[in-house]
Amino acid sequence: VISSVALASLLCAIFIYQILSRPYKTKTVLRKALKRNEFMPWLQGVVDKNGKICGAEVLMRWQNRDNKIISPDIFIPAAEESGLIVPMTSSLLQPLQHFLLQNLEALPADFVLSINISKFHFQDMRLAEECRNFLNPFPEKAISLCLEITERELIEQTPLTDELLKQLHNMGVKIAIDDFGTGHASFNYLKAFKVDFLKIDRSYINTIGTPSVSASLVDIIINMAKKLEIDVVAEGVENKEQADYVIKHSVNKLQGFYYHKPVPLLKFGELLNNDL
Ligand code: C2E
Ligand code: CA
Ligand code: CA
Ligand code: CA
Repeated sequence: VISSVALASLLCAIFIYQILSRPYKTKTVLRKALKRNEFMPWLQGVVDKNGKICGAEVLMRWQNRDNKIISPDIFIPAAEESGLIVPMTSSLLQPLQHFLLQNLEALPADFVLSINISKFHFQDMRLAEECRNFLNPFPEKAISLCLEITERELIEQTPLTDELLKQLHNMGVKIAIDDFGTGHASFNYLKAFKVDFLKIDRSYINTIGTPSVSASLVDIIINMAKKLEIDVVAEGVENKEQADYVIKHSVNKLQGFYYHKPVPLLKFGELLNNDL
């Protein structure tokens, strides 16, 4: 009896140890990967209503030592929990800047580069500095930056976020609300943050053509955005029917596998040159 109690408590201790040490381990693994520059910026083209590339969204990929590509859904939550998401995002900027400078001639006019920004990053004035440094070497109006913040983790408005937004605004950096329709952005919030783009979440776009009530919500979101003078991006467009529908409802920025999948920088360079 005693030994089975001892065994049970030993197993219990091991179990608790594993749970407690997991975040620590994840953090160590991510930190090592960051040191080895294993986080890569991939790009997914955003197109206009003629299907021509007019921008791109940066989507992070982890290319580990076995050259396996790991999807962000697997590591972004841990990166956010540990705060490492901030240096990880920053590590993408230099290769992106280099790539865009090398492909300036192939870039369409008014090219918008969108970057996903976590709420931690948005509570730090250094974000403005990073954007300034990023834009600095580009000829005026060659590109603009857009910071995507997801509606699922709304940012609390404080004097710091006000100042940050003011500085970003002054240098022409745009703000997009990502995954729109899945969270709880109020009209106040949209106004306070002087939002430039709403990205309608894929879960709404893929109800287009079905009798689901979400399909009519797509219309409601588009109309609301029009009234607020905010541009709409349709996310997760996977077929012609969805594309035609949102274009008919005057959405002029589209993103989805129907047009382009996320690809490494080199590949995106080829796309740009083919699109010339
Ligand atoms: P997201 O910001 O909503 O990005 C769009 C996701 O939808 C991407 O997944 C993209 O590959 C996928 N997607 C695009 N078009 C289609 C389509 O037509 N059909 C389908 N089924 N999917 C489509 P991905 O690259 O796996 O990224 C997942 C999420 O991870 C992103 O969702 C974003 O929340 C997060 N993430 C990715 N990169 C970063 C980053 O650098 N920083 C932060 N903070 N989060 C990131
Ligand atoms: Ca996004
Ligand atoms: Ca999204
Ligand atoms: Ca999403």
